[in-house]
Amino acid sequence: MKDCLFCRILRREIPAKFIYQDDEVSAFADMNPQAPTHCLVIPNLHLSTLNEIDDGNRALAGKLISVAVQIAKDKGLAEKGYRLVANCQAAAGQSVFHVHFHLMGGRSFDWPPG
Ligand code: AMP
Ligand code: ZN
Repeated sequence: MKDCLFCRILRREIPAKFIYQDDEVSAFADMNPQAPTHCLVIPNLHLSTLNEIDDGNRALAGKLISVAVQIAKDKGLAEKGYRLVANCQAAAGQSVFHVHFHLMGGRSFDWPPG
């Protein structure tokens, strides 16, 4: 999508530190990290919010999670733990309207989040 920030990152119009990329899913470092490890796992296809996940793209949705888990393992987070979250819509804290999971680790987290 033309003006979407994350689509622009995927087109390399805006720099980012890529951690993973294949033909369906990409991951890059969050520019404002909230934990020692904080990366964003996104579909290469533009989907605005989680509300666009349905039976037609369930394989892609599953792949986002499996890629995130693999990155967590690669970064040595699996044993101690990590947080994988997605904010859906502004009231939940979504500020970039291209689906993304935050993968955060390397510190302890409170629950419930604010
Ligand atoms: P959310 O508020 O859940 O939509 O998360 C959006 C995330 O994108 C925030 O954690 C931002 O720090 C991050 N972000 C915004 N712009 C960029 C960028 N240019 N490169 C990397 N991360 C970004
Ligand atoms: Zn997009």
